[in-house]
Amino acid sequence: MTTTEAAPEIRSSIFSPEHEVLRASARAFIERELAPHADEWEEAGDFPDWVFERAGAQGFLGLSYPEEYGGQGGDYLSSLVLKEEMARCGSGSVGMALAVQSDMATPPILKYGTEEQKQRYLVPAIKGTRIACLAITEPEAGSDVANVQTTAVRDGSEWVINGRKIFITNGCRAHFCTLVARTDRGSIDDAVGPEGVKASSINPRKPSGYQGFSLFLVDTDTPGWQVAKRLKKLGMHASDTAEIVIEDCRVPANALLGEEGKGFYQIMWELQGERLAGAAGSVSGAQLMFDRALEYAKERHAFGKPIGANQAISHRLAEMATEIEAARQLVYDAAWRLTKGEYPVKEISMAKLYGGLVACRVANHAMQVFGGASYLMDVPIQRAWRDARLIRIGGGADEIMREIIAKTSGL
Ligand SMILES: Cc1cc2nc3c(=O)[nH]c(=O)nc-3n(C[C@H](O)[C@H](O)[C@H](O)COP(=O)(O)OP(=O)(O)OC[C@H]3O[C@@H](n4cnc5c(N)ncnc54)[C@H](O)[C@@H]3O)c2cc1C
Repeated sequence: MTTTEAAPEIRSSIFSPEHEVLRASARAFIERELAPHADEWEEAGDFPDWVFERAGAQGFLGLSYPEEYGGQGGDYLSSLVLKEEMARCGSGSVGMALAVQSDMATPPILKYGTEEQKQRYLVPAIKGTRIACLAITEPEAGSDVANVQTTAVRDGSEWVINGRKIFITNGCRAHFCTLVARTDRGSIDDAVGPEGVKASSINPRKPSGYQGFSLFLVDTDTPGWQVAKRLKKLGMHASDTAEIVIEDCRVPANALLGEEGKGFYQIMWELQGERLAGAAGSVSGAQLMFDRALEYAKERHAFGKPIGANQAISHRLAEMATEIEAARQLVYDAAWRLTKGEYPVKEISMAKLYGGLVACRVANHAMQVFGGASYLMDVPIQRAWRDARLIRIGGGADEIMREIIAKTSGL
């Protein structure tokens, strides 16, 4: 949703005055440089690569990365501030693409990468001069990550990768990819996984689920790497989503990211940041939809009075405001725990589950408040409604979040 007008300040004790300074500068950048193009980009079904470079030049792709790699050296809350402000861009696609760059594809490089990998991939990704994608999902492995079939087989000083990835955000334009592949089919392991869930309890067919996966950093101009298709989607039209075919793609031994055989644990760690970023974006998107609906409910008259004067509508708006605030506090609690060094899998799963449900409920109610106008393509509420639906599926669907919450509660 495009909005350049002032909205209520988001205040919480978790943010310092420095975070608020960052918020003001992020908001100014987003409203000045991105929001004016949102409609045009959604219409075109794409946005230009300079967005990454400008965001990088502002420091927004490395807010919580160390200064030695070109980051801003801030804490996790700094990147949370950006996630909240990004909703003002009016294009969920741009926020998602930038989040893939800074919160999904690159955190494993900082955590597990060698110095050489950090210089080659992380530093230009923070600058925005090299675009990244993250490839986990496959046609037969979405929720069931342990069913990944893409293989990486060692051949002398190289790895040979074969497989197929689907739904890969930034996949058409990326210069490199953080890829999950199977490096060992043999080992049997029913250890408790990184989310406190046994592999066999999620997938009884495959007790070996957690071992034998590794992460790789693959340059997308490597022979054998091919974007097979740009996928057409319900929403997030300006974001590119690729199907990728990988055939005898040879990468050097040092393309391995982190320890061989630990890829499943590493990607589950990555998913926590991805889920919290998604939850934060959903809540701030819901807030903007609410603000728009509230304003419309005061302005739009029917039967001689503002539609918001009807209790059916005012109570609905009251409920929306309450749910948004509850979802926001779940996000803040999980983010606070992360900054304190905890690994709050249950709280992150709750924030993503509830944030997604609230975003979709609010979008639905906002459509209703706008009546027929909501159904017009040049009124931004329909775009927000379409875009919001993704969070309940991508990065771990609602059902998977419930499963994790149940298992980490001892069920
Ligand atoms: C626009 C978009 C962008 C994306 N970007 C990326 C990306 O950049 N990189 C990437 O790797 N992936 C990406 N994804 C993939 C996304 O993460 C997956 O779609 C998601 O994890 C769900 O997997 P699936 O689509 O295979 O659904 P499935 O796993 O087939 O699930 C289908 C349904 O069954 C439910 N289900 C599955 N297992 C269970 C169970 N045990 N109990 C109860 N219910 C269950 C699911 O919750 C879901 O509702 C993207 C997806 C979309 C749509």
